[in-house]
Amino acid sequence: VKDEGRGGLRFFEPSMNAHLHARRQLEQELSGAIARDELRLYYQPLVNANTGEIESFEALIRWQHPMRGLVSPAEFIPLAEQTNLIASIGQWVIETACAEAASWPKPWRVSVNVSPSQFRQSDVPAIAAAALARNALAPNRLVVEITESVFIQDATNAVDVLSRLREQGIRLALDDFGCGYSSLSYLQRFKFDKLKIDQSFVRRLGQNTDALTIIGAIVNLGHNLGLQVTVEGVETAAQLAILRELGCDQVQGYLFAKPAPIILASDLEQARLRA
Ligand code: C2E
Ligand code: CA
Ligand code: CA
Ligand code: CA
Repeated sequence: VKDEGRGGLRFFEPSMNAHLHARRQLEQELSGAIARDELRLYYQPLVNANTGEIESFEALIRWQHPMRGLVSPAEFIPLAEQTNLIASIGQWVIETACAEAASWPKPWRVSVNVSPSQFRQSDVPAIAAAALARNALAPNRLVVEITESVFIQDATNAVDVLSRLREQGIRLALDDFGCGYSSLSYLQRFKFDKLKIDQSFVRRLGQNTDALTIIGAIVNLGHNLGLQVTVEGVETAAQLAILRELGCDQVQGYLFAKPAPIILASDLEQARLRA
């Protein structure tokens, strides 16, 4: 090393490289995950707040990695969004969710999460239409969950894509409501079917009365706009009691079930026959 000043810089480089290398490796592994059949959909029920009946299931992706184990979407969806991998993964999610929902014993709805970048990189309405038709699934059994960030980069395109989904009869939910910067303005831009109040509000329910006031106000706002209101992240019976009191329509959270693979009786029978 000739000069001390550059030495400091050099010391920093290997760790940067290591980080980039790890990222590139994960990206490369992820690009083959569909072909290797490593992606899974877990499902979490959405329950009627008043009757306790299951109304739908949200599909939540997992990566069953041979070495890393079960990888959470927080670890690979952002990476997929930064590359073009989100298009193929997102298509896999829509196709798999429709195929699986078609074999459920009851006509529960199925919700899929769609990334904003999927709206730009692929033709989501066409992919959904094909998946519904292939599985003879009624369009109103599919719910597309998007966050308001879909409007940030290209609002005109977002409204166009949402309208094309809506024309087919697919339901639309605005996810993580209340935790962004300008959620309210997006309610004017597009008529959703449903609002999902972000978990952060429920977390604070026991601790301060402001959380209660805010959830109550969002529920009323949603109802006045003709929207169904779901609260996610419900973990305790005490939270559920308050949410029912506030008039929320649907609840989702560990109190009812954690996301898990759906195993059909017919699958068990198949496995028994093979054994
Ligand atoms: P999200 O859409 O807001 O999903 C809700 C997350 O909260 C899920 O985490 C779920 O497991 C978790 N959750 C549900 N109930 C409770 C509860 O009572 N307590 C707590 N602490 N957490 C609860 P998960 O499955 O790790 O997914 C994280 C995020 O990854 C999702 O947030 C969604 O933004 C994204 N994601 C998941 N699957 C997909 C997918 O197929 N495509 C895309 N683009 N994004 C996905
Ligand atoms: Ca969601
Ligand atoms: Ca959410
Ligand atoms: Ca979220």
